[in-house]
Amino acid sequence: MALIVQKYGGASLATPEKMLFVADRIIKEMKKGNRMVVVVSAPGDTTDNLIEFAEKLAKEPDARELDMLMSTGEQQSIALMSMALIAKGYKAKSFTGAQVGIVTDNKYTKARILDIKGASRIKEALKKGYICVVAGFQGITKGEDITTLGRGGSDLTAVALATALNADVCEFLKDVDGVFTANPEVVKDAKKIDYLSYDEMLELSSSGAQVLYNRCVEYAKNYGVVLHVRGTFSSKNGTIIKKEDVKMEKIVVSGITYNKKESKITIKGVPDRPGIAAFVFNKLAEGDVNVDMIIQNVSEKGATDISFTIFRKDSLKAVKVLDAIVKKVMAKGFFIDEAIGKVSVIGVGMRTHTGIASAMFKALADKKINIEMISTSEIKISVVVREDQVEDAVRVLHNAFKLGKKKPVVE
Ligand code: ASP
Ligand code: MG
Repeated sequence: MALIVQKYGGASLATPEKMLFVADRIIKEMKKGNRMVVVVSAPGDTTDNLIEFAEKLAKEPDARELDMLMSTGEQQSIALMSMALIAKGYKAKSFTGAQVGIVTDNKYTKARILDIKGASRIKEALKKGYICVVAGFQGITKGEDITTLGRGGSDLTAVALATALNADVCEFLKDVDGVFTANPEVVKDAKKIDYLSYDEMLELSSSGAQVLYNRCVEYAKNYGVVLHVRGTFSSKNGTIIKKEDVKMEKIVVSGITYNKKESKITIKGVPDRPGIAAFVFNKLAEGDVNVDMIIQNVSEKGATDISFTIFRKDSLKAVKVLDAIVKKVMAKGFFIDEAIGKVSVIGVGMRTHTGIASAMFKALADKKINIEMISTSEIKISVVVREDQVEDAVRVLHNAFKLGKKKPVVE
């Protein structure tokens, strides 16, 4: 008999019919003899709608009150789901974040979990045969104020509960059957990945694959929780995410991701002195601009160009900060290019295999796709290309590394 934590996202809970379907899905696992803890997000677009409402009242709604408001979305789901389960003849009980003792710091709208104190309440209910339905995304401060964990934060609730309860597995039920070698909408031949390491999943999600909330994968990695991303509408196994093993290392490239929502900024003629980069990027961080890749060129006559990419949604904020920065450091100026995208090749096998970068660049060159920036980590190579060539680049690389239904590149 296993203890399973299952997490269902808002899209699977958007209508009564969908909720009833999910209830049956939970019951199916229960009937196999498993004990079930279910973490749910707010139904459909509830969270977005609540924020929209708030922003009609206040340009920047008070953060404490925003958390009080947003947390109500998940509270709807737990009550509705429990009712559905009870109506189907099962014992079920709903719990808010506060009731299961998810204690966070007081950084409203992006709180961090400090402790889970009340998991004993769930343990008791499980013993009595209840399905425990827990609100995702929310916690409570030591001073008993309600907080939320950041958009998409229900994933994190699920992993944190799985850790506290020592669950056998933490499952994420999605409308897709798992994590794919590339977005199946872009690459017809994309294949479901059976196993990924935590590091690969982290790189995949930070470079474009919208599968799991990054902080949830970090948490799982720290505590060794096995994650299973699988289809709500399928009983087949999905993608298991766990500690790296020898078998995984043999696969050189696991997946290709992309992000079309980036902009590239170049600051021209930046004086080449210690402390300038620190100043520039500090000011950008203060201005709440998320910087991704950075390149500094060789300096000529005491000045250099610095290029970097940011999330496109931060473009306006960046331009505002950059005007001041350029003046302050006496650079020549800056320009922003909003028609770029990033394509990344990811795989733990890169640690032990060579030639991946050159194979990647050659495949792109053969297709006449120009590379504008390159950055690498131990298990990832990312390139910036024109936005309108991003999808082509993904297909070309997927093919070059033979990730399709054919065999992957193994040694
Ligand atoms: N309902 C919250 C959101 O939409 C949390 C979640 O879905 O995980 O961001
Ligand atoms: Mg949601």
